Amino acid sequence: MAPIVDDLPLEHTYASLPEAFHSRVAPTPVAEPGLVRLNETLAQELGLDPKVLGSEEGVRLLAGNRVPQGADPVAMVYAGHQFGGWVPQLGDGRAILLGEVVDPSGTRWDLQLKGAGQTPYSRRGDGRSSIGPVVREYLGSEAMSALGIPTTRALACLTTGEQVFREGPEPGGILVRVATSHVRVGTFEYFGRRGDRESVQRLAEYVIQRHYPHLEDGENPYLGLLEEATRRTAEMVASWMLVGFIHGVMNTDNTSIVGETIDYGPFGFLDPYRPGEVYSSIDWQGRYAYDQQPGIAHWNLARLAEVLLPLLDADEEAAVERAQDALELFPQRFLATYHAGLLRKIGLSGTHDGDLELALDLLRRMKENEADFTRTFRELSGLGSAPEDGDRRARSQFRDPESFDAWASRWRERLASQGRPDAERQAEMRQVNPAYVLRNHLAQEAVDAAVERMDFGPMERLLEVLSRPYDDQPENAEYARPPREEDRVTQTFCGT
Ligand code: AMP
Ligand code: MG
Repeated sequence: MAPIVDDLPLEHTYASLPEAFHSRVAPTPVAEPGLVRLNETLAQELGLDPKVLGSEEGVRLLAGNRVPQGADPVAMVYAGHQFGGWVPQLGDGRAILLGEVVDPSGTRWDLQLKGAGQTPYSRRGDGRSSIGPVVREYLGSEAMSALGIPTTRALACLTTGEQVFREGPEPGGILVRVATSHVRVGTFEYFGRRGDRESVQRLAEYVIQRHYPHLEDGENPYLGLLEEATRRTAEMVASWMLVGFIHGVMNTDNTSIVGETIDYGPFGFLDPYRPGEVYSSIDWQGRYAYDQQPGIAHWNLARLAEVLLPLLDADEEAAVERAQDALELFPQRFLATYHAGLLRKIGLSGTHDGDLELALDLLRRMKENEADFTRTFRELSGLGSAPEDGDRRARSQFRDPESFDAWASRWRERLASQGRPDAERQAEMRQVNPAYVLRNHLAQEAVDAAVERMDFGPMERLLEVLSRPYDDQPENAEYARPPREEDRVTQTFCGT
């Protein structure tokens, strides 16, 4: 009888694209695959049997030690603007696309092994990953998913029984990542900037067919593609801003064509509300600071538009005009989503003129007072329409608590005019103001335990808490607490 992993229904639409799009390469086996964690819920959503994936053969498959019969693994090629500078060729240097699975609802997902060995795009890299960044990405993507933000997912994480050398020796790891697409803005740039118009068109057709099939019969599917990518990216970044997420390395090669958060490197979540916050150790100019993210995403989409120009209209001037109109959707969609989200965060309908101003005024005061971003909004969610004991916890987030009091009295006036039952409004506010986010010091603890002691207990506990970020979990209150000043993590690393 054939081993059961050969029955995995892997498909290969991307690998079937012409040679120029990828390199055929098998994962390099690792010494001793060890399953740290299988995301059973996700496996089931994908229509995969967790028992099979968790079996000895399944673990060998997840580690890249066993390529199923008929599989056609590839490394994808792409290019990108990194910190604004053009890099003509990047590509999966340590990730291998094993194949695609179609879930019961018909959605197609890429199954990618990250840390699976060298590829033709590895440059001088070893093709491997330390277990630290694997744990960080697992935590980051699952936390974001539980918050309801579009993101790649983590299906499994493994140890390799090998060491990788970074600052010093560290245990090796593999992340099995799942995404509806691994095509990036940088994939388009790779072909566009070398003048390979045919491949740009082929890639655009592929993306439209796979991700935006409703565009196929439209008047101008390529323009539709640019508009969809623009809208989805704007909504994604707005959702980041509303939970205090900083991606940290929004290069065009880390910008998905379908608006999913991808490539969790030096990311972080705000503790105090500091709009200019940068955690990434390599971002010394603050290009990817929290408050720069909307502008950068828009800039990245302009790079996509440039490459698509020849497809938008035969007439160059007309093409530019169409591209500009499409890109204009970004500020529109971003602001609409962000502002609506802010109003929900303070429990207002937005029907009054002053509502938005009131929300922005709170942010201004939070900034001046270094109030904790997550905690302030969560505490606000519990407050009633009259000053009460709970105010103590909200106002204590502010250096000058009276600054909060002044705001809160205006807010309560407006709540009164809205005339909604407190309980109903509070329940809605709790659904948009998480109690739990992946605070940097918590992520760091889980990473350190994994790297230093191969202890995955802290990661497990965090995943459990973060899987229900909008629930009050009194037994886990310590995870909601802002870090003490001495525990604050102020830098995060790619740590590839
Ligand atoms: P990232 O910073 O993860 O977005 O990666 C940027 C580029 O460097 C991508 O082309 C990666 O595939 C490549 N890369 C990062 N780490 C490694 C590594 N350890 N070995 C080979 N390539 C790598
Ligand atoms: Mg990347």
